[in-house]
Amino acid sequence: MNVRGAVLREMGRPGPYAESRPLEIVDLELAPPGPGELLVKVGAAGLCHSDLSVINGSRPRVMPMVLGHEAAGEVVAIGGSDGGDAGGFAVGDHVVLSFVPTCGHCGPCRAERPALCEPGAAANAAGTLLGGERRWHAPGDDHLHHHLGVSAFADHVVVDHHSAVKVDPSLPYEIAALFGCAVLTGVGAAVNSAQVTPEDRVVVFGLGGVGLAALLGARMAGAAEIVAVDVVEEKLEHARRLGATPVHAGDGAVEAIKQATSGGGDKVIETVGSARVLQQAYEATRRGGTTVTVGLPHPEQRLDIQAVSLVTEERTLKGSYLGSCVPGRDIPAFVTAYQEGRLPVDELLTHRIALDEVNEAFDRLAAGAAVRQAIIF
Ligand SMILES: [Zn+2]
Ligand SMILES: [Zn+2]
Repeated sequence: MNVRGAVLREMGRPGPYAESRPLEIVDLELAPPGPGELLVKVGAAGLCHSDLSVINGSRPRVMPMVLGHEAAGEVVAIGGSDGGDAGGFAVGDHVVLSFVPTCGHCGPCRAERPALCEPGAAANAAGTLLGGERRWHAPGDDHLHHHLGVSAFADHVVVDHHSAVKVDPSLPYEIAALFGCAVLTGVGAAVNSAQVTPEDRVVVFGLGGVGLAALLGARMAGAAEIVAVDVVEEKLEHARRLGATPVHAGDGAVEAIKQATSGGGDKVIETVGSARVLQQAYEATRRGGTTVTVGLPHPEQRLDIQAVSLVTEERTLKGSYLGSCVPGRDIPAFVTAYQEGRLPVDELLTHRIALDEVNEAFDRLAAGAAVRQAIIF
């Protein structure tokens, strides 16, 4: 079938993207879903900082690629002759797409650590669906890749059913989409990786979609105190309205955090993707505390911390991918928390845009002038 989608052909084009236009909006040919795959009509897709990291080349991916990895939509066809092989999905189901396909059979999947799914990681690195297939074709170009098994920036996508989670159809698509990356990653970092409890003083570095979701996750977990750190005044003001103590990032931030938390955070969550900020997050963690890192620094960056403090202060430094979530378990639980008013993820959504405005929207994201922007199809 014919589909409109946003294709990235080369990384590292300089901004402003409104002029350099790294994402081309083009007509694509989408092959029908194979066995175990779903054709999904995309309702909304979110713009994430890690899409921007592919555009600017700090998170290299195989090119060319239909970009985007945060989406929600409706199943409109199921591949294969017997629908039984497609995880029990039915035409008409509303789904959230998850950016790590979860095979369910490998060691990490069996250990309830699907963020580390081995076939999922291999498929994501190769830019294919979980089964190794590519379903995109463009005129004169047969080598388009899938982004993290999702490729959200298109009006229809084919995904492996292991990339989809069924959700309540009453949820608006632009809210549902947020659960696929920002909420899974940020709320998961707080409740699964950091395991925030009501006794905890929590610090969140970076107030983008993931950081703000981590703040909401810590709030849902009943954290005694939440400190929010960013450079953008409007984001700090937003965090203050959500009950956090704002601290301006930069020199003096660690001291200010220690003051606000009487000695440092019990749980400190870094979402910026910079080794320098991770070092600050470590320094802002109290003795016995846990520093969780969610951001994606450039592969060449190295971390400089006092090694002995891990032992003498019994500290934990922990990486968190996919919020250490099991998508099929955690997405429905987080949706229920949203519907019950305990997790107001609509606070993340700042802009609704059209597919044609995607380059301008990435300028806005790069400038820190947006939290989550959703393409509405
Ligand atoms: Zn993301
Ligand atoms: Zn697996």
